[in-house]
Amino acid sequence: MVSQQLSSPPKVDNLIGFETGSQTVASAKFDFDKIKAVFLPGGILEKARPGYEARPQQLQMVEAVCRAFSEESFLLIEAGTGTGKSWAYLIPAIYWSQSQIQTKETDDSFLPTRIIISTNTKNLQEQIFFKDIPFLRSHLKLPFRAVLLKGRNNYLCWHRWKDFILELEHRQLSSLKERLELLPVAVWLSETLTGDIEENTGFRAHQKPYVWAKLHSDSRYCKGNKCSFNSVCFVNRVRRAARNAHLVVVNHSLLFSDLVSNNSVLSEYQNLIVDEAHNLENAATQYLGVEAHLWQIRNLVNNLYYFDGRETGLLPRMRQAIYKGKLSQNTQETLLGNIEAVTSLTRSLDQASSRFFRQLSEACWEFNLRQRQPIGTKIRYRDWLENFPSTGIVTNEFLNELQELAGELRRLHENLLLVKAEEIAEVEDFLFDLEGTCQEADELLAVFKMLIEATDQRYVFWLEPSPRGENFDSRIKAAPLNVSFLLKPLLYDRLRTAIFTSATLSINGQFDYFKSRVGLDLVDPDRLLENALGSPFDFEHQVLVAVPKFLPTPKEVGFIETTVSLLCDTISHLHRGTLILFTSYELLGKVYEGLKINLESEDVLILGQGKDGARHALLRQFCEQKGTVLLGTNSFWEGIDIPGTPLEILVITRLPFEVPSEPIIQARMEAIEQRGGNSFYQFSVPAAILRFRQGFGRLIRTKSDRGVVIILDNRALRFRYGSLFLESLPVIPKVFNTPREMLNAIEKWFFR
Ligand code: SF4
Repeated sequence: MVSQQLSSPPKVDNLIGFETGSQTVASAKFDFDKIKAVFLPGGILEKARPGYEARPQQLQMVEAVCRAFSEESFLLIEAGTGTGKSWAYLIPAIYWSQSQIQTKETDDSFLPTRIIISTNTKNLQEQIFFKDIPFLRSHLKLPFRAVLLKGRNNYLCWHRWKDFILELEHRQLSSLKERLELLPVAVWLSETLTGDIEENTGFRAHQKPYVWAKLHSDSRYCKGNKCSFNSVCFVNRVRRAARNAHLVVVNHSLLFSDLVSNNSVLSEYQNLIVDEAHNLENAATQYLGVEAHLWQIRNLVNNLYYFDGRETGLLPRMRQAIYKGKLSQNTQETLLGNIEAVTSLTRSLDQASSRFFRQLSEACWEFNLRQRQPIGTKIRYRDWLENFPSTGIVTNEFLNELQELAGELRRLHENLLLVKAEEIAEVEDFLFDLEGTCQEADELLAVFKMLIEATDQRYVFWLEPSPRGENFDSRIKAAPLNVSFLLKPLLYDRLRTAIFTSATLSINGQFDYFKSRVGLDLVDPDRLLENALGSPFDFEHQVLVAVPKFLPTPKEVGFIETTVSLLCDTISHLHRGTLILFTSYELLGKVYEGLKINLESEDVLILGQGKDGARHALLRQFCEQKGTVLLGTNSFWEGIDIPGTPLEILVITRLPFEVPSEPIIQARMEAIEQRGGNSFYQFSVPAAILRFRQGFGRLIRTKSDRGVVIILDNRALRFRYGSLFLESLPVIPKVFNTPREMLNAIEKWFFR
């Protein structure tokens, strides 16, 4: 027992099935009946998992996925909670990859047919890789290999780690603090198989982004085959394995960054499964967009030259090597002159960028003040100078400095290329690092220019001022107005089979909205298969949907007060686990205060997002303490899976329309209007309905769950579009005229 406690936890690996001797072998043909038999009574799943029951919707999905693979089609399939959709696509995918093995031309060995599986959330990614795949591998008894692959910046780079440690040894100030911060990394490095920083509980990369930025693998500084750490490199290990795996599990972020880097990460693939596909447009918008901020410049500058009582960085290291080297006087003077010029430019760029971002923050502050909006409000712009005239001079200064630095770095690189290894021993290393820095400077210049010129009509441009009004923390961003023009050529055109699945893809069984948003309407219609599966749940008996008619609409006077009063009555009357979903922090805050004050004397735990801890801690408490009330916004509308009694009442405070003033939403609505469409009915309403259905889906997670959904937004009853929301639900809502009538009906329903 004691030895069990002392032993270290099992090591996490991101490869499955790569044991020595495991080979790709040719196997049987893709047999629909054999695959279906896995799910049927007496099949592998029933034997392996006691209590497993084949569900008609799951079998329909298995058939549809098999058909998509064998016909090389694009399948859009909506499958609700409880369908068992992961197995319904994983099992056919495994059999397909086993049946489609290709032979390498070079040595007659077998290559697997790879299938990329992309999810939006880490939870689902981990569920698939750490639970579903090991389970299926051990019970299907097929020798497939799988890899969990993340973006390069999740993995530590040994080369950069070594350089960083050397750098710290040379620094005087702040060195002790940084060393202590890095201690958990050093300990973890002696253990980890994957190098994935997320494993490390002692060092949270997102809390120390500027330290992690210097340690993670970065293509600009990767020496590839020439790296002395190549054989133990974490990125190489996982990427090599991914090229030789049957299933590669990624997230949407990696899927899109791979697209814009010409498949440099995933290499060529022809089969794709996108789970949580309802997030595809948002993910593409986010990851195919561009962003610039001050810290990118600071990183560039500090890597070149840093002074904290002692000089560190690439330039001082090179200067030292030049003095020690065996160069002609002429070459030495030229190189030292170049280094001096770059050093001086790093200082002036540092100052110019600070002036630029300070002035920009002030301009944002003034703009929002003039518009009478909160200081952190995002500002969409089409013309930089028109929106921020006071930044004209500092913008030019900053861009000129960046351009000069990029040019001078190139000159230094060109001159260093003439130096031989006999003259400076480390010249290869310097050239390599310098090339990475040149690339970084060129890329930054291109990004800042693109954002400031704002001429690319395919993008929407905006500024995000620091919400706290801090001087330097403004971010300049751009995102594609329409992701279709990128997804069609970059992704769809080269896929053989693609499966897009989610619990919410269609509106009343039609996929038109989803297709138009992600460019699937541009794909040959003969290749599209569409299927909206019904739910395996008996919603008529499992859920009551209540709409109180007596409340004002959210825009009318008294909405907050009457909402708080109704919620207090409901909570103290019913004492059941309640999740309240909001569309804004502002309303959440007001209701939270109201509930706290009014329910103070009652023994009810009230938890608010952003008030009482991080999301996972809130969810844990919510599940642990019976009758808890949890208030959440955005991220709580989806991805929460709480079966049973902890969650029996779900409250939707407002219909979840996107904020129309968000730059990207505003631009997309304008684009529809310009084409003669109706942005409200073609964009706002369908997007809100899908989100509304996601929210609704939080309540019933298993066949034995029962509960009540209360929709507080009266627009669902009073406005024409409201009926579209109510009709999208799987049960007919009940309308109530008084609070008493509603509470009595709910109470009676629970005791039915
Ligand atoms: S191969 Fe590249 S990523 Fe790997 S350790 Fe070397 S430099 Fe870092």
